[in-house]
Amino acid sequence: MGTPLDTRDDQAAEVLDRLAEAYPDSTISLHFTNRLELLVAVVLSAQCTDERVNDVTEDLFEKYQTAADYAAADEAELAENIYGITFHNNKAGYLQSIGETLEAEHDGEVPDTMTALTDLSGVGRKTANVVLQHGHDVVEGVVVDTHVQRITRRLGITEEERPEAIETELMDLLPESDWQQSTHLFISHGRAVCTARNPDCGECVLEDVCPSSKLDSDVDLASGESWE
Ligand code: SF4
Repeated sequence: MGTPLDTRDDQAAEVLDRLAEAYPDSTISLHFTNRLELLVAVVLSAQCTDERVNDVTEDLFEKYQTAADYAAADEAELAENIYGITFHNNKAGYLQSIGETLEAEHDGEVPDTMTALTDLSGVGRKTANVVLQHGHDVVEGVVVDTHVQRITRRLGITEEERPEAIETELMDLLPESDWQQSTHLFISHGRAVCTARNPDCGECVLEDVCPSSKLDSDVDLASGESWE
């Protein structure tokens, strides 16, 4: 029990096959109807739950519909409008700045390159990857969030620690056709079973190939520490 396949390629492929079967409808859980809404939602989702973001954006997207609306926003009022979101004051500043940059440099549109996106305030590679994939159908990399980071390490798919290094490794291991969906599958599993604090290894479809399984391993390979 709990023995990974011989190579990381095989381990990654097996894991994704099983997760695809377990979560056939897995996809992005943020709500949006256009690229600007997607960009705003992803910026707000950093260190915040998608559920909370969806709650807040329901009204936000009624009030701010264009890049110009964000550019012209009163920052304190915008912060009030996204109250409840982690770091809402900082993120209000990001959204206003993003509105200004989109207006000044991109005709009010959301750009479609990694460089242009990561030049926007509050937008790192992870956010840019999500916007490219779901807003522009451009897949340049693998989105590595906290779930992807934790689960790929637990399963022995990677020993890297930083999201950027894990992304590079996953791009090497996975066929490009899996780059986008793999993120959703890991996130679904991270929410449903392989949670950060108390994974339900007894109910996990990956238990027999997981070297971190609590059923026969003392160590959580994601943290390198003993299970509590
Ligand atoms: S739930 Fe347990 S067995 Fe399943 S992937 Fe996570 S640590 Fe491994």
